[in-house]
Amino acid sequence: MNERLKIIPVFLPYAGCRHRCVFCDQFGSTGVSKRLSPKELDKIIREYLETSDEYEAAFYGGTFTGLDIETQKEYLKVIKKWIEKGNIKYVRISTRPDEIDENIAGFLRKNDVKVVEIGVQSMNDKVLEASKRGHAAEDNKRAIKILKNYGFIVGVHLMTGLPESTCESDTRSAKIVADLGVDTARIHPTLVFKNTELYRMMEKGEYIPLTLQESLERTADMLAILECKGVKVIRLGLHVPVELRKNIVAGPFHPSFGDMARAYLMRKVVLFFDIKNVQFPGRYQSWFYSHGNKELLLKNGVSLSPAEDFSFDGMDYEGILCKYVKERFSW
Ligand code: SF4
Repeated sequence: MNERLKIIPVFLPYAGCRHRCVFCDQFGSTGVSKRLSPKELDKIIREYLETSDEYEAAFYGGTFTGLDIETQKEYLKVIKKWIEKGNIKYVRISTRPDEIDENIAGFLRKNDVKVVEIGVQSMNDKVLEASKRGHAAEDNKRAIKILKNYGFIVGVHLMTGLPESTCESDTRSAKIVADLGVDTARIHPTLVFKNTELYRMMEKGEYIPLTLQESLERTADMLAILECKGVKVIRLGLHVPVELRKNIVAGPFHPSFGDMARAYLMRKVVLFFDIKNVQFPGRYQSWFYSHGNKELLLKNGVSLSPAEDFSFDGMDYEGILCKYVKERFSW
């Protein structure tokens, strides 16, 4: 996959969703309240092509394969035209695991879809049920396996702090999807938006959101588990535009959540093994110098220096993560 392709994001809020998950507020978190028609999509693509000419088209915000097949065809037909002209390289879709089967995988494959992101959220049935996802962990497994067999690049969305979740269930979810061989992952902390059932659950005392610290703790461990297995973590934390942050009423939101989680993981690993010499490529400096890490690590006698590659007392990045996962978890 060409990592440098620019993305034409197409938000289809709640499109194809037969369930309303307790935490989800597509309108409040994206600001997109209207679903784009295939005709409008063509117009948007033309506008994007004025600035560059190599794109990936990505459908977000709903359950693409939950739409009726004719609507899916209409959207994909619009994109095909631009693929044939060479402007768009391929399509990415987001969907739910229970809307994937062999037929739909074959259909997507024939219609230029190369990347499928699945809302897995958790691999624990109790958590999925309490979040009213309407599917089980087994559906997640089945969908991932089908998509891998059909040769898609498979991405998963995982969440920390859903109702009934624990540190154990969240980290175990990361391990299961990593073992299934997914290619990419996004980890989102559960945030409470006003217009959701989760908000009403919280008001009734049935749900307590994680603190920022707790969420970072879980996310950092999940990150280690995923990256140790070669899963590319492409997003940590939910992106909520500044003007929409007023819709978040509770939960571990921080605009730099991703950076903080990375810094938190580095701190955990270095202190866990009492590492004294850390070297890192310059572009990763913030992992060691930000969010209180520099002071804490220097106070613990850790020497920090830029270098071409990572070294943790001589061990490389993947090596130290895998050692951490092995010693930290009993699986
Ligand atoms: S989380 Fe996904 S499946 Fe659930 S309501 Fe939101 S968009 Fe639909």
